[in-house]
Amino acid sequence: MERARLHQVQRTLPGEIANAEAALAASQVRVAEASDGLAREESLRTRLDREVQGHRQKAARYRAQQDAVTTPAQAEAIEHEVRFAETEIQRLEDEEFASLERTEIYEAALGAARAQVEESAITLEKTRQRIALCQTELTQQQADLEVQRATLRQGIEPEWLTRFDRLAASRGTGIARVDNQQCTGCRMGVRPQVWNQLREGELLPCDSCGRLLYWDPAMAPAPKAPQTESATSDGRAVRKPRQAGT
Ligand SMILES: [Zn+2]
Repeated sequence: MERARLHQVQRTLPGEIANAEAALAASQVRVAEASDGLAREESLRTRLDREVQGHRQKAARYRAQQDAVTTPAQAEAIEHEVRFAETEIQRLEDEEFASLERTEIYEAALGAARAQVEESAITLEKTRQRIALCQTELTQQQADLEVQRATLRQGIEPEWLTRFDRLAASRGTGIARVDNQQCTGCRMGVRPQVWNQLREGELLPCDSCGRLLYWDPAMAPAPKAPQTESATSDGRAVRKPRQAGT
């Protein structure tokens, strides 16, 4: 039972590391997204700057021609070109301003995401250390249990071991405490004679489920009156189990 529990605990451990790794990966994605956004805005503004530059040069050229105009129609055409260039410059500069505002948002997001990455990395590292410690402890506990188990098995007759192993494989547990004349494994009552034998320290199979029954004096309520029946002098001692099926 303890072995099964330890095994169960051990199986949940890798999941905790996987969760911490997923959290770190998610914050790394947010850093990458913010960085991409910043790079995108940067190159957008470079392009806008170049276009603004072009319109300024054009406007300057048209203004230089204004001195040489000969007709009102020419003057108006040049005036129109200059106004167009100025409107374009205004529009492009507005776009640049909007880009700068987006950059500020990306920078804030990048800062937060980087802090998150740092935190997640620390959490992951701590989780790994804690899990490694857990693993070591579990392995030690399992080894201790194996030693106990091997020692216990050495003291038990092979026929009983076979029976126990078969029961443990089919029912999860091979052994059950008998309590108040009942098998705690299947809740069926035991015959009075079996009950008496169990209380004398014998190990007997349950008639219903086949688990090996044992009686634990420490778990039993204190007797109300002195018992008269079958109180032999050695009745309390836990003896080596007798052959089953008497
Ligand atoms: Zn039973």
